Amino acid sequence: MSGRIFIVAAPSGAGKSSLVAALLAQDPQLKLSVSFTTRKPRAGEVDGVAYHFTTVADFLQRRSRGEFLESARVHDNYYGTSRVWIGHMLDQGHDIVLEIDWQGAEQVRAAFPAVHSIFVLPPSLEELERRLRGRGTDSAESIATRLANARVEMGKAPRFDYTVVNDQFDHALVELQRIIAQCRAANPPSEPAPSPPSTSS
Ligand code: 5GP
Repeated sequence: MSGRIFIVAAPSGAGKSSLVAALLAQDPQLKLSVSFTTRKPRAGEVDGVAYHFTTVADFLQRRSRGEFLESARVHDNYYGTSRVWIGHMLDQGHDIVLEIDWQGAEQVRAAFPAVHSIFVLPPSLEELERRLRGRGTDSAESIATRLANARVEMGKAPRFDYTVVNDQFDHALVELQRIIAQCRAANPPSEPAPSPPSTSS
């Protein structure tokens, strides 16, 4: 049996991580891929939970060994998804959530055309800026980079199968749940092949 892959992408600050955390909390079949990154941990981020934090040298070595299903440079840091972990989870029949950017989404689509991709939009760029400043975890410089990148990323939303506007958290969560249920119904897990009839005489 093989699980499904759901990509959830969004500009930084759109509320994607909180939405995905709420999704996972009520759906044990969903497993979150923990990415590798060269970004420094933010306050409260635990290694191996938020990300596998690593150095640029280690990341580039892993990438050259083909360890990443996809990888990208985002906001001046490297990010990548473990190929082995994904294969293992899919083989076990789990559905996987990848919280990755649009560049990574393109690479995963090329490898797994049946992937389901969702783009979470903020209600507006002004609201995005307000949220980024409000969370107080990024420097002014980092916020400026993230806002500039948000314009580019939001331009990629039409390439995704679904878009969800995170205006009100509860509404956006219900919408995500509905999309996942719809994708599951349209792609039920494959049944194991029937055993061949016995030929012993
Ligand atoms: P943050 O530094 O705010 O956690 O994430 C910054 C951006 O990197 C977000 O758009 C996030 O989705 C993206 N990102 C996180 N992990 C990965 C990954 O493994 N691959 C790619 N391509 N993007 C990622």
